[in-house]
Amino acid sequence: MAKLILILGDQLSPALASLRDVQPDDVILMAEVQAEANYVKHHQLKIVLIFSAMRHFAQTLREQGHQVHYMNYTAKVTSLYQATCDTFALYPHLNGLVVTEAAEYRLQQELLQFETRLNLPVAMLEDDRFIANHGMFQRWAHGRNQFRMEYFYREMRRYTGLLMEGTQPCGGQWNFDADNRRQCPAEVIAPEPQWQLPDEITQQVIELVQQEFPENMGDATSFRYAVTGKAARAAFLYFVEHQLAKFGDYQDAMRCDDTFLFHSVCSMYLNIGLLDARWMCQKVDQAWRQQQVPLNAAEGFIRQIIGWREYVRGLYWLLMPSYQQQNYLETTTQLPSYYWHGQTKMRCMQQAIGDTMQHAYSHHIHRLMITGNFALLAGLDVKEVSDWYLAVYADAFEWVELPNTLGMALFADGGVLASKPYAASGNYIQRMSNYCQHCHYQVKLTTGEKACPFNALYWDFLARNEQKLGGNARLQLAYQQWRRKNTETQTEILAKAADLLIKLEQL
Ligand SMILES: Cc1cc2nc3c(=O)[nH]c(=O)nc-3n(C[C@H](O)[C@H](O)[C@H](O)COP(=O)(O)OP(=O)(O)OC[C@H]3O[C@@H](n4cnc5c(N)ncnc54)[C@H](O)[C@@H]3O)c2cc1C
Ligand code: SF4
Repeated sequence: MAKLILILGDQLSPALASLRDVQPDDVILMAEVQAEANYVKHHQLKIVLIFSAMRHFAQTLREQGHQVHYMNYTAKVTSLYQATCDTFALYPHLNGLVVTEAAEYRLQQELLQFETRLNLPVAMLEDDRFIANHGMFQRWAHGRNQFRMEYFYREMRRYTGLLMEGTQPCGGQWNFDADNRRQCPAEVIAPEPQWQLPDEITQQVIELVQQEFPENMGDATSFRYAVTGKAARAAFLYFVEHQLAKFGDYQDAMRCDDTFLFHSVCSMYLNIGLLDARWMCQKVDQAWRQQQVPLNAAEGFIRQIIGWREYVRGLYWLLMPSYQQQNYLETTTQLPSYYWHGQTKMRCMQQAIGDTMQHAYSHHIHRLMITGNFALLAGLDVKEVSDWYLAVYADAFEWVELPNTLGMALFADGGVLASKPYAASGNYIQRMSNYCQHCHYQVKLTTGEKACPFNALYWDFLARNEQKLGGNARLQLAYQQWRRKNTETQTEILAKAADLLIKLEQL
């Protein structure tokens, strides 16, 4: 039986399940479709990345002798279903479809209808590029009241043997997070990540994106990310050699005019299949065993991949589709327009949004403690915030974006993912960055014209959510501080916050 093998835009891995048994008569279908390119207003660089990486992957498959039917982006190819039907019509000898399960719920639901709609057999294969399969996560989650990442992560360490000595964690400790919260002094210089110049294929995609998506965020011509597995692996090995050693120490640090610091900038490659999670973690484990990097760096990095990344994916599939509807803190405020243009007097927000606009990237602490924290404190609408994160980052796919936004940043799941909201005043931002020195606002002030907006909004957040959050053990100290303030001070702070919320658009 000759089959059609459908490869999705985030399935660009030679070891993909559906590519393991390709026969000479089979046809591989890859399509740049309207529905996928437009379901949110993706950043221009994200579209360039995915389309160019798809075209390069198709080229490699052809060079390996496979028959590839590639459909370039046109207004005529509206959906994956339509692309599939059109391809079956062109190749009448094909009598079945093979596809690896989609990473996102929305798309998986669409694929699940293909068999009935096409009236042909469809083989749906498991995506085993993830280390924990659905069954493994479900078994771990079964019977637990709380799904804490740390315990899942320990299971994954045991399962993979990464940074393990027999049954014990290397260094006698599972987690070195406490060592990973240093400020980054000016004299510490982070090397630039390794960039790629666009080749002819990428150049064509850049032109396409300029023409078809002119209103989307970003400038397609500034594209310099890797678009092949080989280039992505080289960029990652460069990170291991030059940046990983300091990744742990400065993981939470932020600095004016340094977008990347010691981060790997590899999520976008990993999420579309150019990099393999096991291979990356083995390289990092090896670098530690060969004494090239300290343990807090290697452990910190591996935890992000086999811990956080696998955990959010497991949680997403465990809790969808109802997860998407959650809004525990009942927030409804509209997203201020500076999330789209970056013009605000708040220096920290300028930096985080500016990086995002320029690179379709910002590192975790920007996403969590600047744009995410602001959205949490200001009570921004969960769906609007989630759609923003899904659109503006090159690595954004719902399975990883949604738990991070709705669960981690906005506490909209009521504590399924995080044991407390990641709410912080300007104090935290001052401690971890040099933004406040260059800001229009004064971080030490809570009220008054020049007061840092994060301060009054922080107290207001605690006060307005006291019924829901007042009993949270990890917020007791914060609530005690709030209750110790006299009524006059509290009233003044709440009035300031109310004023800020009215003037949200002008901050
Ligand atoms: C509100 C919010 C939204 C986010 N949206 C996305 C998203 O759409 N796509 C995405 O890949 N990550 C997302 N993250 C997680 C994280 O911010 C990015 O993975 C990271 O910033 C990517 O940069 P990097 O490759 O330089 O990461 P590094 O700091 O170098 O970390 C190494 C790798 O670990 C993984 N990782 C680290 N933290 C997480 C995490 N919390 N969840 C899952 N994987 C993690 C990533 O694959 C990352 O490449 C989000 C975080 C927040 C707070
Ligand atoms: S003073 Fe406040 S708004 Fe300004 S950079 Fe610091 S935390 Fe951000």
